[in-house]
Amino acid sequence: MRDYLKFYIDGQWVDPVTPKTAEVINPATEAVSGHISLGSTADVDKAVAAARRAFETWSVTSVQERIDLLQSILAEYERRERELGEAVTEEMGAPLALGCGFHTLLGKGHIGTALEVLKNFKFEETHGPSIIRKEPIGVCGLITPWNWPMNQTCVKIAPALATGCTMILKPPQLAPYSAHILAEILHDAGTPAGVFNMVQGQGSVIGTHLSTHPDVDMISFTGSEPVGVQITKDAAETVKRVGLELGGKSAWIVLDDASMAANVAGATAGMMGNSGQTCSAGSRLLVPASRMDEAIAAATEAANGVTVGDPAGNFAMGPVVSKSQYNIIQDYIQKGIDEGAQLIAGGLGLPEGIDKGWFVRPTVFVGNNQMVIARQEIFGPVLVVIGYNDIDDAVAIANDSTFGLGGYVSGEDLDLARDVSRRMRTGAIWVNGGFDFNAPFGGYKRSGNGREWGEHGFTEYLEIKAIIGANPA
Ligand code: NAP
Ligand code: MG
Repeated sequence: MRDYLKFYIDGQWVDPVTPKTAEVINPATEAVSGHISLGSTADVDKAVAAARRAFETWSVTSVQERIDLLQSILAEYERRERELGEAVTEEMGAPLALGCGFHTLLGKGHIGTALEVLKNFKFEETHGPSIIRKEPIGVCGLITPWNWPMNQTCVKIAPALATGCTMILKPPQLAPYSAHILAEILHDAGTPAGVFNMVQGQGSVIGTHLSTHPDVDMISFTGSEPVGVQITKDAAETVKRVGLELGGKSAWIVLDDASMAANVAGATAGMMGNSGQTCSAGSRLLVPASRMDEAIAAATEAANGVTVGDPAGNFAMGPVVSKSQYNIIQDYIQKGIDEGAQLIAGGLGLPEGIDKGWFVRPTVFVGNNQMVIARQEIFGPVLVVIGYNDIDDAVAIANDSTFGLGGYVSGEDLDLARDVSRRMRTGAIWVNGGFDFNAPFGGYKRSGNGREWGEHGFTEYLEIKAIIGANPA
């Protein structure tokens, strides 16, 4: 049982102003795994005041001081990586190999990347008669979701620290354990008091108070579209910068010259990873209509081959995060059946042999792009395969979405793959399985407005100042 009842404010672990606790449920067993405190606006006020005070000194530290801190955080993170991974598995149900693998690796990657970017980042440049400076924006409210908890917290905390900002983290109620351990890591690494603060609790209380707080300069939010819209409205009154990383319905285009079976299998297995709870998941698989039979065979085999079970065991897929997510996904599967999509793998209900926990069957439909299951983000292990007639058709289908977060292109002809990628209206495209910690990540359209990861992630936390005439010819 984990009881993480204290908040981290001004360099200390403190009790909430008004005690109030909530249970945390293990999604694989449905049993209570521990408790957290639910904070109030008074806790937020304390954390914001601490961050404001700390900004005076942290914002004027040398680059070397911030490099030293990030190095120390990285070492402490590596020391406790296993523990972080186990916490992720317990809180949100990722298989242990994934929790202690890609989940924690992403967090570590963002800290290491921020460290490397910081070493060469130009905070001041001359430009004609002017000096152009990049200065930390101030006190930041970081609001994160539960689906890739270490990725999403570290991708905000590391650049915020590197640029000289101070911050208050509001972790998700559904994944509070890894955030608590991360706060311990930041403390033990020697983060100065007030630079990093963490208050757990409800988004509608903690998140809203951060978004409306006159002493918070910026909100970085990752989560759902409706909450992103609400935060933007809440932040408008105090003219805050709001960085949004929202949802997606990303298309995976398999070009005609690609090995169909291997790519469809890879895309299908990829969709089921993390139980489909990935904002940039390739949830619409676009294949040449003329090769649909091949694609159906490969997708069916791949989905049926995804083992589902106890995250502590040797299974490819664990449960989804909560009962409410489970119900939402079941409703979408029913909707797909009702709107006439062809179910080729998985379907309604629990996987065979499982009678407890929020496990979903790896599900694949063949449908068209007008169906609800092809338009709305399901956030579960549900893939829709759609046939296209030619390249123009593939691009049109891919772009026919209110979202614009990610995209995938598989094909042998790299010129064609690049051309198709250039025509897709999304913030990131992965060609033939590429990966890059230094590439920016963020959405077009309703997928958001921010860019995280690498050097671009720094600019989210920086103001730009022009000092004109300071550099006369
Ligand atoms: P969510 O409901 O939007 O919650 C995200 C965070 O916002 C949580 O910490 C939540 O607190 C908080 N929150 C809720 N209401 C709030 C409010 N009124 N003001 C301020 N904060 C508030 O999202 P989720 O259900 O956790 O995550 C799933 C969604 O996130 C999906 O749509 C997914 O695509 C998206 N996502 C996007 C990315 C990306 O990088 N683009 C990455 C991951 C996930 P609670 O703890 O109370 O819920
Ligand atoms: Mg939610």
